[in-house]
Amino acid sequence: MSPFRSINPWNGEVLQEFSPTNPEAIEQALTLAEQRCGSWRELPFAEKSRLFYQLAQRLRDQKEELARLISLEVGKVLTESAAEIEKCALVCEFYAEKSASFLAPEELLLPDSKRAQVIFQPLGVILAVMPWNFPFWQVFRFAAPTLMAGNVGLLKHASNVPQCALAIQRLFLEAGFPSGCFQSLLIEGSHVAALLEDPRIKGVSLTGSEKAGASVAAAAGKNLKKSLLELGGSDPFIVLADADLPLAASTAVKSRMINFGQSCIAAKRFIIEEPVYDPFVDLFLQELKKLKPGNPLDEQASYACMARPDLAAELYLQVRETVALGARVLTGGKAPEPGSACFEPTVLENIPKGSPAYSKELFGPVASFFKVASAKEAIALANTTEFGLGASIWTANLTRGAELATYLESGAVFINSLVASHPMLPFGGIKKSGYGRELSRQGILEFVNQKTIYLG
Ligand code: NAP
Repeated sequence: MSPFRSINPWNGEVLQEFSPTNPEAIEQALTLAEQRCGSWRELPFAEKSRLFYQLAQRLRDQKEELARLISLEVGKVLTESAAEIEKCALVCEFYAEKSASFLAPEELLLPDSKRAQVIFQPLGVILAVMPWNFPFWQVFRFAAPTLMAGNVGLLKHASNVPQCALAIQRLFLEAGFPSGCFQSLLIEGSHVAALLEDPRIKGVSLTGSEKAGASVAAAAGKNLKKSLLELGGSDPFIVLADADLPLAASTAVKSRMINFGQSCIAAKRFIIEEPVYDPFVDLFLQELKKLKPGNPLDEQASYACMARPDLAAELYLQVRETVALGARVLTGGKAPEPGSACFEPTVLENIPKGSPAYSKELFGPVASFFKVASAKEAIALANTTEFGLGASIWTANLTRGAELATYLESGAVFINSLVASHPMLPFGGIKKSGYGRELSRQGILEFVNQKTIYLG
């Protein structure tokens, strides 16, 4: 098996290499995880909370080093990496505070005056298969509710972030979690199906592409195990004629360019009502020009590079095909240097049906513009992709915005705001964006047995 290489995408430097977790070590990790389940599930909420508060503190204490690690391994600018660590601390504190009430037994009174209870119990060892784009946040938003519910976690992180994977495992131990509560395995995606055959693993949560999601869901299905999928998106950003255009345009650029466009809930398709199309596009281009490229470690940089050169090359092919089919390039559009993860922010309009920008996810700094004659047409166009993760609508009329939101095929609609994840809000998609929910009370209910006890 080839080693896991941690590579700085900004300059191609190999930072470190790690041997893959070998079969004996995988077996040891599974044994330890299963042994830990018994004592961990019995630990009172107050004790688990104490550990998560300590974990939040550790994250904050080490924010600078951890942010630097993220920036070095995935090319994210330092300010965004630091914000990611802070968000992880917040999600730890959120579930530390709320889990006992989220999982409090429910009492039911039946028509025949009999009573019943619903109690919430952990399932056991849960596997997380995670992506590189928010290499800490994706893991913590899985781990905090899953462990607070009494499960233990095993992480198979993306192959290009082995240092992040090992740092997260270390943080759990440093915060005082018993060994086996959270472990990282350095294994390839192709090994996940075999892992799901193991009876000690009771469920799997995957965040990633449709392809990986379909493969993991098939393996989970074959073994009749619970799965949760957080997959891609091609979120629409709908601007109606009465919107606050300057605010919408600055938010649009932020939403498209966060993490250099590599976010599942980034706005990707900008659907603009005809009367405000030209002014909105102008404002968008002006806002985009204000961003400053630079080294990921430069605190002044607004963006740096993509997480791997192959991702930049793949994105360029999608742009090239869209343009070959008739799209117009308003800015950018050039091929990246061979072997480089740098990519010129690109804006396209006149997007033809059947092109990648029309129907696929463009996972990088490429904005696609569409002109529509009415709100009705905007909704119809928004719903044309196979994805259904997030969406936003911009209008001065909140009541109309909320009414239109009901017609959008997505897991969330944000009105006059960029789509974002927040510990209090359920997060997840429909259609090919996956199933299940993370965060909020819904998130903690994904990997528990909702057990009914009838008192006869
Ligand atoms: P990816 O290639 O699917 O990888 C995600 C994870 O799945 C990695 O750990 C990867 O391991 C693993 N994997 C890949 N193929 C697999 C297989 N056949 N079986 C089991 N595991 C497999 O996705 P990515 O390129 O890292 O991430 C980008 C995608 O994630 C985008 O589509 C994005 O929209 C989506 N995403 C969704 C959300 C959400 O919450 N909905 C959040 C973030 C990202 P290797 O690295 O070893 O291949």
